[in-house]
Amino acid sequence: MLTLDDWITSSGSHPERASDSELTDEVMANAQRLLDAVNPFLDELGITPPPVSSGFRPSTVNAALPNSAKRSLHMTGLAIDLRDKNNELDRIVVANSALLTKYGLWLESPASTPGWTHLDLGTRSDRPVRIFQP
Ligand SMILES: [Zn+2]
Repeated sequence: MLTLDDWITSSGSHPERASDSELTDEVMANAQRLLDAVNPFLDELGITPPPVSSGFRPSTVNAALPNSAKRSLHMTGLAIDLRDKNNELDRIVVANSALLTKYGLWLESPASTPGWTHLDLGTRSDRPVRIFQP
């Protein structure tokens, strides 16, 4: 099971982010809501959670990332990237996309996420398959 600490520190890679001033109660509440969707989603897919490659991103970290969205949901607690070296997780999620709808999740198009899987609770107009282009 992925924990709030996994999300905050990107599975221990960035322990310093736990004390970042941008990690507000609101961001943590959002992240808990995200994990309350992602954990049962992975469970129903029969997947042991991979490490978080990117969870919480302070604004300075986000701004330094090439191609990151200016108002990334990683800053507000609503997005998570999971390590997906061979794009196997992306393939499984795409093949079971009805579960994205069930859990209120969105998948970023696998073509845009080589090596990781991005899931979020973004607000977008609904569509039959909840896969979005960045
Ligand atoms: Zn992401």
